[in-house]
Amino acid sequence: MRKILIVGGGQAGLQLGLTLLHHEYDVTLMTARTSEEIRNGRAVSLQVQFHNALRFEHEYGLHLDEVAPDSVGTFRYAFAGADDIPAFDWTGRFNGPAQSVDERLKMSTWQEMFEERGGKVIIHPVTSSDLDAMAHMFDLVVVAAGHSGLAEMFPANHARTLHQETTYASVFAYARTSIEQPHRIEVHMLPDLGFLATIPTTSVTGPCELLLLCGPTSGPLGSWPQRIRPREHLDLMLSMLKERSTEQYERFHDAELVDARSVAVDYSQPVVRHPVATLPSGGKIMGLGDTVLVCHPHMAQDADNATKSAEIALKNILEQGDRPFDEDFMLRTFDGFWEYARFMAGHVNDALMAPAPALLELLVAANTHQEIADRYVNGFDDPSDFDEWATSEEKARDYLEKVTGSRTLQPG
Ligand SMILES: Cc1cc2nc3c(=O)[nH]c(=O)nc-3n(C[C@H](O)[C@H](O)[C@H](O)COP(=O)(O)OP(=O)(O)OC[C@H]3O[C@@H](n4cnc5c(N)ncnc54)[C@H](O)[C@@H]3O)c2cc1C
Repeated sequence: MRKILIVGGGQAGLQLGLTLLHHEYDVTLMTARTSEEIRNGRAVSLQVQFHNALRFEHEYGLHLDEVAPDSVGTFRYAFAGADDIPAFDWTGRFNGPAQSVDERLKMSTWQEMFEERGGKVIIHPVTSSDLDAMAHMFDLVVVAAGHSGLAEMFPANHARTLHQETTYASVFAYARTSIEQPHRIEVHMLPDLGFLATIPTTSVTGPCELLLLCGPTSGPLGSWPQRIRPREHLDLMLSMLKERSTEQYERFHDAELVDARSVAVDYSQPVVRHPVATLPSGGKIMGLGDTVLVCHPHMAQDADNATKSAEIALKNILEQGDRPFDEDFMLRTFDGFWEYARFMAGHVNDALMAPAPALLELLVAANTHQEIADRYVNGFDDPSDFDEWATSEEKARDYLEKVTGSRTLQPG
């Protein structure tokens, strides 16, 4: 039986570990925290997964139907208008459900499931020296330890990384309100700040709403205090909202945190890394998930990317049979993943972050043409579709004409 070591018990590492156990591999997981520590610890991340990613989890019996049965079917995108950019406010329908589960709930449950299904768990914050000492004991070592720390072992691939002069902050809180919230994902552009996303989520204590403020550090989020109590964190988010959107502030004015640790702030920047790292002794190890790719937070892709990269790694490991997991295997595995990920990590990101005139007209036309709204939101599930219609002025005008009968948006 082939022996595989996975470092990191997040979406990428645990999904790969659980699916390898299903195929009867000998899998060891080394991760920094016990399931109890994860469940009772502070929030570190947020995840939105779209239909295709969830379908893969269902196939392997990994979906948490009992603890997190909730899913969302629609996505509202709103902009109040500014300067010469007109307002839009529409709701697109997903082709299949999307879902957000607090990582503390999902990963603690998966880590226990991994042990129950015969995986070995070693709780230890792994260093590069540990890896060097242990790698020879395994047929393959996979590092899925998130976007910092061990990720530095994998050099940045500057040719593939988007050049971004701006750094971004993401500030979020899992909260509940007395007002019943609409059951959909919402994104509201807040011109001087960035955007607010609100996402129906299941946290450790049950259903709640996830509030995310994201924007450049050159704006108001750049002065986010380094030390701040969780309640003050939520209050500061609400006061930023109050100054910018009466409608959204009204929704959340009486929000309470779901637990005392349900807030976080993150400054991770988009990066593509080389998928293979070389240990001092010459051994090769493979990166997975956030360790090798972080997209812009606006793209809401990283949990789906972690899922997809683990799915492709599984497929390639199975196909490799008894052949060695050498550097060629690792590069091929990443190339397979990149075929999927290159859209949101590259020119689709550019097109959506700074919409050209024709794409802006399409966003306004979506107010009255449901087809455009639906196609836009389903692009988050299948990013390659954005490339068909949103990534150049010509393609966007062709699509505008196809839907509205005119290559330019008619006033009114
Ligand atoms: C603020 C914020 C906003 C986000 N927004 C979105 C979004 O809108 N949509 C979306 O899809 N995704 C989003 N994400 C990202 C998403 O949560 C991650 O991309 C996804 O969880 C990546 O999974 P992963 O397994 O690669 O890494 P992680 O989930 O980071 O898991 C890494 C694991 O490795 C462990 N570990 C780390 N170092 C070591 C070590 N040295 N030794 C042992 N174990 C170690 C950690 O404890 C953890 O268990 C967001 C993340 C943040 C922080």
